[in-house]
Amino acid sequence: MESTLQGQLTCWRQHLHQNPETGFEEVNTAEYVANILKTLGLEVHRGIGSTGLVANLTVGNGTRAIALRADMDALNIAEHAPNRAYASLNAGKMHACGHDGHMSMMLGAARLLAERRDFNGTVRFIFQPAEEHGRGAKAMMADGLFDRFPVHAIFGAHNMPGMQAGTFATRAGGIMASEDNFVIHIKGRGSHAARPHMGVDPIVIAAQIILALQTIVSRNLDPSLQAVISCTELITDGIRNVIPSNVIIKGDTRSYSKAVQTLLETRMREISEGICRTHGVECSFEYTYEFAPTVNSPEFLDVAVQAARNVAGNASVDANVRPMMISEDFGAFLQAVPGNFIFIGNGNSPESGGIPLHNASYDFNDDILLTGARYFAEIARLELPAG
Ligand SMILES: [Zn+2]
Ligand SMILES: [Zn+2]
Repeated sequence: MESTLQGQLTCWRQHLHQNPETGFEEVNTAEYVANILKTLGLEVHRGIGSTGLVANLTVGNGTRAIALRADMDALNIAEHAPNRAYASLNAGKMHACGHDGHMSMMLGAARLLAERRDFNGTVRFIFQPAEEHGRGAKAMMADGLFDRFPVHAIFGAHNMPGMQAGTFATRAGGIMASEDNFVIHIKGRGSHAARPHMGVDPIVIAAQIILALQTIVSRNLDPSLQAVISCTELITDGIRNVIPSNVIIKGDTRSYSKAVQTLLETRMREISEGICRTHGVECSFEYTYEFAPTVNSPEFLDVAVQAARNVAGNASVDANVRPMMISEDFGAFLQAVPGNFIFIGNGNSPESGGIPLHNASYDFNDDILLTGARYFAEIARLELPAG
């Protein structure tokens, strides 16, 4: 049976790859996925958080339920793959993060579980929109996702180029970082470049702020914790011989807990406003939460590791991988329900899955589809044991 499943998963994946849709516009994608799930005999609920959907599979009389999550959105990237037969048909859009593969793996898990029926309880397959925006998980939860479809745990995965194909890596605690953005607007008083004493130069103030922000991680944060503060844009209204009136600093911070997020926001605000006050200029400081940190629950590490070992062998599973500073919308689900997020190696040579995520030549490695499908089916079997 599984050789035909491999063929089917590849066919589903390549169809999805050829027809990418971006966040909250996954209309045809949701339709395609929903039809397959219905054919497999699952009960499908559409339009949750705009284009999101949930498919339920109940076996036996158990009342416990788990969620398995896939993401559906593509990116605004023009695919560069001249020899790829199934390259994107939607100009400027591309599955460059492998969400096509995540959907196919999840459909494969649904098929395996629908055929084997070797668990007792309910598996809820969540297909979320807009992962890349960091908006889809919140949209589904705001639409009553876990009130309508309660679960005691949620599981998700992401393919990882640079990791050997079909191997697994996870950990307890923070595995992917939060992403926050900030905008600091310094309102100085412009003047002639030759007569700085006639104004208040916001560029010199901005320089002090940028350097001082780098003391937060080194001097305020517990050294056993991690964070990154990056100033990424510096915008002024000055010209060659004119000191500007306005400087805007924009940037991005990453961390692994709410407490660290709060520390970063608080100290950044104090430093920005404090330095501006020293110079007698006005400051506006905005700080927005874009992605929650992805923090794995220690109590569901064992089941994830065991499922991965059962599928890939003991030597192919790292149960204490180093966290990554990139961000993932799954973190928002983990703030509502405990669970686990795991990486699946996409391959480490450019020919077989090693091209980085979000690169215009990236491709999901079809050789890991079956491994991913089996992993999620195994989670259900272990977490909702029959008999
Ligand atoms: Zn991505
Ligand atoms: Zn992704």
